Amino acid sequence: MRFYSTNNPQKTVTSEQALFQSMPFDKGLYMPSPLPILRPDFFNTIASQSLADIGFEISKALFGAEISKTDLEELTHNAFPFDTPLVDLQPGQTGVLELFHGPSLAFKDVGARYMAALMSYYLKISDKEVHILVATSGDTGGAVAMGFHNVPGIRVSILYPSGRISDLQEKQLTTLGGNVQAFEVEGSFDDCQAIVKEAFTDDELNAQIPLSSANSINIFRLIPQGFYYVRAYGQARKFGKSIVFSTPSGNFGNLTAGVMVQKMGLPVEHFIASTNLNDIVPKYLETGNYLPRPSVATISNAMDVGTPSNFTRLSYLYNNDYKHFKENISGYFFSDDETRIGIKQIYNRYNYVACPHTAIGLMGLEAYSKKSSHDYFGVALATAHPSKFKLLVEEVIGQSVDVPERLAILAEKEKYSVKIPANYEAFKDSLLQTVA
Ligand SMILES: *Cc1c(COP(=O)(O)O)cnc(C)c1O
Repeated sequence: MRFYSTNNPQKTVTSEQALFQSMPFDKGLYMPSPLPILRPDFFNTIASQSLADIGFEISKALFGAEISKTDLEELTHNAFPFDTPLVDLQPGQTGVLELFHGPSLAFKDVGARYMAALMSYYLKISDKEVHILVATSGDTGGAVAMGFHNVPGIRVSILYPSGRISDLQEKQLTTLGGNVQAFEVEGSFDDCQAIVKEAFTDDELNAQIPLSSANSINIFRLIPQGFYYVRAYGQARKFGKSIVFSTPSGNFGNLTAGVMVQKMGLPVEHFIASTNLNDIVPKYLETGNYLPRPSVATISNAMDVGTPSNFTRLSYLYNNDYKHFKENISGYFFSDDETRIGIKQIYNRYNYVACPHTAIGLMGLEAYSKKSSHDYFGVALATAHPSKFKLLVEEVIGQSVDVPERLAILAEKEKYSVKIPANYEAFKDSLLQTVA
């Protein structure tokens, strides 16, 4: 598999280069070239396959020429010791694809763990070392911290916006220790992302510390996220209907992954981009104008992104053609008040407890159903476990929310982070000090 940069499609690099380099030097984004087309009969065989089985099959199509079958099988099964079950809310009508059964209780485990497994495979055979740098709006940090914790040859630095993520989200990235270091930035997620972007293009810094990214700018986070769309299709086939996915979105990695796997042959009828008031993409769909702007803080904080870094990729998949984009994706956005009402209605109607992001996904599905008269099976991606937003969800539904053991134990652990102002030089100094 080769990868090209969206800024220079003529030049391609190997999987290993794209994996470790994350962002091309021309500041574009890596894209697979060409995307393999999966055999149509593959989709007939997947009903009973797990996420790991499906991941292995697709990985063979992608990397079978570079990595042996045995190694691919081992790394996909190491990456996915959990599944992504499709829960029926209204059988044959509406379902939620639960992506939160991994260690950090959010879908980002899927991308982070596959990427860690692949990096660890290449590091083992090449004896290299890398430093992972990542900005988090909430859940990336935990998934990356846990996915890469104690992986030999890898150090991890995580930047997060001070006071803008939940206590438990913060504990997930500030309590592991070992090879994981958290930087608490006095600013927004966009500030964190800007610092990370600058670090990757700082030649002087990269000469001292070889940096790699685990943000969704790294194409290897997105590739495995396609696996669970396929897993959902496998579980939904029994209804014999076409399928529409609603993806609660911020940086748009998750939705881009769905569109990529659709291009690989997965029969998907339509996608819905569901957002909070950071409605850049729904507004683009409405007007044809893409206007990034500073993010606003919401109760679905993992989607508080004003400059979605995967928009370029998504648009690229539609040849930068607005009409084509709009035919395949609908967009809806919701305020915090609407989200609270949504959580409550979902609970009353289906007896299902949704986190604010998942609620937005389901609300997007419902908004879409009002304007489409035909029959389809609608699947909302459940991106985080509701207990990650326990206080809010409990207040809205008036019931207590159980916290899985692996999250509950974090409350007792002590936080360790390095606090820095929201500017690049401060970060660089601090990083060089901690690493030296
Ligand atoms: C990261 C995240 C999102 C947004 O996903 P993108 O790929 O950035 O669009 C949605 N929900 C939750 C819970 C998340 O952690």
